[in-house]
Amino acid sequence: MEILGVNINFSDNKKLNQQFHSFAQQLSVWYGLGKIPKLASQDTRFTLELQKQKFQSLGLDVKVKVEKPAEHDSAPSSMSYSDNVFVNSSVAGNKRITTTIRNTQREIYNKIADSVICTIMQYPKEGTVPPPDTPLCCPNCGAASTLGKLESGCKYCDTKFLIDELYPKVMYYSIEEAHKSGTEKNQLVKCMIGTALFCLVIGIASQIINGKSVGVLDIVGLLFGGAVFGFVPWLFFKFISTFFKMGKNLRGAGKTASSLRFCHNMRKLDPTFSTEYFRDKSLSLLKLMLYSRDPQELTVCRCDDPFPEKLREIVDTTYFNSGVNKYSIKDGVCDVSLTFYMDSLHYCDGKIRKKSDKIRMSLRKNIKKPTDLGFSIMAVNCPSCGGSFDAAKIKACPYCDSVYPIEKNDWIVTDIKI
Ligand SMILES: [Zn+2]
Ligand SMILES: [Zn+2]
Repeated sequence: MEILGVNINFSDNKKLNQQFHSFAQQLSVWYGLGKIPKLASQDTRFTLELQKQKFQSLGLDVKVKVEKPAEHDSAPSSMSYSDNVFVNSSVAGNKRITTTIRNTQREIYNKIADSVICTIMQYPKEGTVPPPDTPLCCPNCGAASTLGKLESGCKYCDTKFLIDELYPKVMYYSIEEAHKSGTEKNQLVKCMIGTALFCLVIGIASQIINGKSVGVLDIVGLLFGGAVFGFVPWLFFKFISTFFKMGKNLRGAGKTASSLRFCHNMRKLDPTFSTEYFRDKSLSLLKLMLYSRDPQELTVCRCDDPFPEKLREIVDTTYFNSGVNKYSIKDGVCDVSLTFYMDSLHYCDGKIRKKSDKIRMSLRKNIKKPTDLGFSIMAVNCPSCGGSFDAAKIKACPYCDSVYPIEKNDWIVTDIKI
């Protein structure tokens, strides 16, 4: 099913749900014992490693415990999008998350919250076989490799894998606090009161303009009619918010129309482009920038301005909403400016503070090539000499020295501000 360019697939997939619970468990083990999650893709591992290095450089010890939620343990739900080879499914579920942060002397942060973990799981489309040079890491030893090499035996640990054992991979994940019940009712009441008052003002104004008097019954009628109509904007709001996850309030809701317009126009140029893909991609780039100790060193970073100091304080961040400010498409190059509404933990002066941040980020991609869901910056092939290397931190090919044209294959960051 497709609505407003968004693929919706309400499938109940047992295997994906199981993998979801395993990944949640693996995350807990990663933060507790440092064992890298088996299900994480190469780029997800890279982001986790960067965050760990950042914690270490700040002298912080961060533990995240993932457990069964106290209340409803509802089955994960899923939405999916695909290119010619891969399907990405978003699987989300409730978990109870305990976060503790210690500095060298004492505990400085402790929080237990019912949360939603959202994962993007990738697996090959039914009936397709991904090319052997698809970047993958060895589930056993974690070494960067390719699908073909892992099928014939990992270079480092010699384990052989069947394709079924290599998928799914978690391409991206996020943790957000579960919305408190009751907010939905509040939104509805707000929408109804708003519309009722609006109808009242318009109604009275038109009566006066037409030279008629305004009676009590007119006012009651207008208020009642308005409240009934308030239900319609609420439904519309609910419908849109499931895609852009505006839960708690209207932070960033004004950007919904321009975001949908952008996604619609991108799909005309690149049929594999999807709203969900772009949201997940832009968020993983944001995390990469925030968790890196030296973001300017990253291959995906082509920012002229220095990285803002205030962004360096962020040690953990959760997504609230995002939207497109403006975009341009010229000669096959797309430039897009986004605003992210994030809830982040800032570390400064030895304290952890929770803040709501508004982060602007500009991205660029050459859109002549369609979206490749299997692309990984941890393993690229040089277009000049064919050599393969890790482009996450090395901007030029180590064999022939030519600069890797990452914007042809993936989105790059051209600006970031807070
Ligand atoms: Zn291995
Ligand atoms: Zn080369």
